[in-house]
Amino acid sequence: MATPYRQAMRDATTFAPVMEAGPNSYAHAVEILRGGGLVALPTETVYGLAADAANDKAVMRIYAAKGRPSHNPLIAHIFEPKDARSLVKISPLAQCLMDNFWPGPLTLVLPKITDKISGAAGVGLDTLAIRCPATSWVSAFLELGFHGPIVMPSANRSGHISPTTARHVADDLGDKVDLIIDSGECPNGIESTVLKIEDDHTVLLRPGAIPAEDFVPYISDLRLPGITFPASAPAAPGMLKSHYAPKASVRLNALSKRPGEAYLAFGPSTIEYDYNLSPEGDLIEAARNLYSALRALDKVDTIAIAPIPKKGLGEAINDRLRRAAADRDA
Ligand code: AMP
Ligand code: MG
Repeated sequence: MATPYRQAMRDATTFAPVMEAGPNSYAHAVEILRGGGLVALPTETVYGLAADAANDKAVMRIYAAKGRPSHNPLIAHIFEPKDARSLVKISPLAQCLMDNFWPGPLTLVLPKITDKISGAAGVGLDTLAIRCPATSWVSAFLELGFHGPIVMPSANRSGHISPTTARHVADDLGDKVDLIIDSGECPNGIESTVLKIEDDHTVLLRPGAIPAEDFVPYISDLRLPGITFPASAPAAPGMLKSHYAPKASVRLNALSKRPGEAYLAFGPSTIEYDYNLSPEGDLIEAARNLYSALRALDKVDTIAIAPIPKKGLGEAINDRLRRAAADRDA
């Protein structure tokens, strides 16, 4: 059944069609991607804005649609782990992580060995960020004979809050994409964890949906520049200080609600709140709700946010909140 916003978008000529996830919409998506178009796709992390990774024009459309700085590289998404072999150099550790975490929300930055990914996506780097998503359209695309890879940043205006529903995508990019596929809320609700594997050590570039402690059995010396924020320089190309930002200013570790503020709580709260990320204090639920909450509360001057524990997924949540609160002129 068409939800009211889907109907509203069908009625508005400037908006991309929104189709429910399923065989019809997947076939249409493949047709659009093959023709150099842009499709917003649900993933287990957030909604992504996909283009054929080999098509320069399509990749450049992604940068234009998002208003993304041209120095911020894109993640190549493959549909089967074995496809990594033709794109990047795979060390034994990289292979071990692929075996244990793919398909899933882990992005690996590895030495690039292909020229089949558009230069625009790689922004001149000799490395490539690569991930194999765990999501329903992948097998359908393969059955339709479309093997990727695709590049797929989050489907939001650059610097804004990431989208975890099709409605969020439509609000940000509805007039800039050719199709939005709707499969409801994303299960993780927060982006992939990004690891850069170098010769003698591994660096956590972005905390994400897989908590750092999950890597302990595989990586003994994980370095954490993504967490030493605010750093004087970005830890990786495109790791912007201000990101994931609502229009409202953001006050972190707030233990009270001031007049005119919206209060975002976590766990049992004695403070009167406007939204609670997880009344039971569950970090998995909090990560899933984070971006919806920030969008829902973005009607006030300031969003005050309760302290969030820094363990497990709390690391990724705190990373996003620090960037949401950072100076916007950076
Ligand atoms: P998103 O823009 O949400 O897709 O996030 C992609 C993240 O991956 C950004 O933080 C990029 O800077 C990072 N990234 C992509 N490619 C590379 C690369 N070759 N080296 C380091 N970071 C990368
Ligand atoms: Mg993003």
